[in-house]
Amino acid sequence: MGAGKIVNIFLLFLTFILVVGCATVQYTKRKTILLITQEQETSLGNEAFKQVTSESKLSSDINQTAIIKKVGSKISAVADKPDFQWDFILIEDTGTVNAFCLPGGKVAFYTGILPLCQDENGIAVVMGHEIAHAIARHGAERMSQGMVTDMVGNLLTEAVAAKTPEAQKAILNGYGMATSIGILLPFSRKHEYEADYIGTILMAKAGYDPRTAVEFWKRMLQHSQGSSMPEFLSTHPNDLKRIAELERRMPEILKHYAN
Ligand SMILES: [Zn+2]
Repeated sequence: MGAGKIVNIFLLFLTFILVVGCATVQYTKRKTILLITQEQETSLGNEAFKQVTSESKLSSDINQTAIIKKVGSKISAVADKPDFQWDFILIEDTGTVNAFCLPGGKVAFYTGILPLCQDENGIAVVMGHEIAHAIARHGAERMSQGMVTDMVGNLLTEAVAAKTPEAQKAILNGYGMATSIGILLPFSRKHEYEADYIGTILMAKAGYDPRTAVEFWKRMLQHSQGSSMPEFLSTHPNDLKRIAELERRMPEILKHYAN
């Protein structure tokens, strides 16, 4: 590769920083550098959602589906994202312990995660956590880091603009939607703590007791010790430190809970 090309790539990179640039995560005020816009991300999210729904069977359980939609509506109502086009579906797949929220607000639960949620409060924990990953744009941040790493060899930025299959995979992978593509890329500890914090604030604002989150993650931990690791834990690593961190911040989180 010639020096001219490297300079060009560097300039392209700088342009992206300037155009797309820095973002601040709501609630934590953490600064991030994102190389794709919310618009691009939402567009990829919608495409990926279409793909997932066309390959999946929706649950025929009216009651369970209604609970997913109810919890989703309540939590999205306090998420303060008027540009998101929210959608909440329940996919019939008892063997898949997973849930995800794609950028732009498309949320899917698999029936396999419901026994671990136990009830509406447990569903609110997962819903809040997944929506938090999406509104904090963790997937975009992961894609952006990947872009920087791959900048010389592989201009993913162009792939995103052109909505290539490569960009589709990146967005699915970025948001823990691993099951359909067979790649399990775990969120970092920093992203997990942030999603726990924002997610429990959202559930509290929506009227759900945020202390339920501690119980949920304890159940998840126990589940992971008993059997093979579910998809959800492969992408959302869980350990005692995370539970301790959630407990440490609980007094602050409870200020958002009215009861
Ligand atoms: Zn997570």
